[in-house]
Amino acid sequence: MLKGKELAEKLLLKKKNGGRVLSEEEIQNAGEFGEGYKKFLDEGKTEREVAYYAIKYAKSKGFEQFDKDKKYKPGDKIYYLNKERSLIVAVIGKNGSKNGVRLAVAHIDSPRVDLKPRPLYEDSEMALFKTHYYGGIKKYQWTAMPLSLHGRVVKSDGSHIDIRLGEDKDDPCFCITDLLPHLAREQMGKTMSKAILGENLNVLAGSLPLREYDESNSVKLNIMRLINEKYGITEEDFISAELELVPAYKAQDIGFDRSLIGAYGHDDRSCAYACFIAAMGMQQPEDTIITVLADKEEIGSDGNTGMQSSFLKYFIADIAAQDGLKGRDVLRKSKCLSADVNAAFDPTYSGEYEAANSCYVNRGAVITKYTGSGGKSDTSDASAEFMGEVRNTLNKENVLWQTGQLGKVDAGGGGTIAKYVANLCVDVVDMGIPVLSMHSPFEVISKIDIYMLYKAVLAFFK
Ligand code: MN
Ligand code: MN
Repeated sequence: MLKGKELAEKLLLKKKNGGRVLSEEEIQNAGEFGEGYKKFLDEGKTEREVAYYAIKYAKSKGFEQFDKDKKYKPGDKIYYLNKERSLIVAVIGKNGSKNGVRLAVAHIDSPRVDLKPRPLYEDSEMALFKTHYYGGIKKYQWTAMPLSLHGRVVKSDGSHIDIRLGEDKDDPCFCITDLLPHLAREQMGKTMSKAILGENLNVLAGSLPLREYDESNSVKLNIMRLINEKYGITEEDFISAELELVPAYKAQDIGFDRSLIGAYGHDDRSCAYACFIAAMGMQQPEDTIITVLADKEEIGSDGNTGMQSSFLKYFIADIAAQDGLKGRDVLRKSKCLSADVNAAFDPTYSGEYEAANSCYVNRGAVITKYTGSGGKSDTSDASAEFMGEVRNTLNKENVLWQTGQLGKVDAGGGGTIAKYVANLCVDVVDMGIPVLSMHSPFEVISKIDIYMLYKAVLAFFK
């Protein structure tokens, strides 16, 4: 009979900290991967910016705009931009799509604060913007910090202007004010969800009046004048605009060992980057590989750029037609990693997690069998067969991985786009990385974990 130690080695699942089990070279590779990722984060702070940055990058790697009437051969690299806010990149496989395709799907929208269609107003001789938050945020986290303004304004003549203000060190930025503690006795007694109300996320946009205009709205008019001088837009143009306020700071290493990255938008640009870079390096995969960078996940994946829309289904139908197949026959045989982040175990808030089934920083890519809430509602629960297949692939390719569930049963919950891909009859499982302070303006991930997710996607694509 084996001794206890040998038996444990043979039978029990081990915790593996990448900082201990990976080679020095792998840890260094992870550090280098993190450098490219930080640049990606700084360049792409909105879904549009990410899509454009990714297209530019893809073109430099030989990807061409998809034309469904053109005939593609194995090794051809294509991209398809869907309505400026979601992007598909693909590399045609040796088998084309006849055995199904391999999908990695992540989202490139992140929680933020959007301007309302009629944003600009004046109160007490200050110019302010009315906003409506986007996605699940703790509102108090978005006050008293520098914000930058990003987005697109479509003018009455149909032309558009792209705005990105607050990112350069010489730019002005914006902020949402908060009440001083001295006068906050009543506010401090409220629950966190009531202390800062959505309607009070008003953004400071200026304070000087137009000198020769002695009316009550002279500050608003002065700010509108300056906006018009800079961008050539009028107040009505705000109605046809998508303007988003996001944290103005850049991604930065965290900790004396620089093992972590703090930034806005790790959910889900970390997974988007890993899936995207994996696709960029594919030469001639067996089956066609596809990375999808989707929009609108944070608000339920609705709309024509979200995963509830048919843009992926149509794209796959076009790819299938290349091989004389029907889209549905390809989808039925296809497999997908739904790449999204999971909640990293946080010792400060350990009570909300179940330790054994949580994911941990530096233990690698996270496989999440199901998400949802209230008894596995609103999720795609991955099959034992597909879990087995993915696990074996990762083990064979020496990818450091772990499992994760989103907190304790009934602590809350959440969803991913896995279920929308599963609805297309595709085998799908959630795979991502652990994030600390998820959905805050400054989320934290580990360089080892994002690098391991990249390796996991590569293994899956092979
Ligand atoms: Mn996400
Ligand atoms: Mn999210």
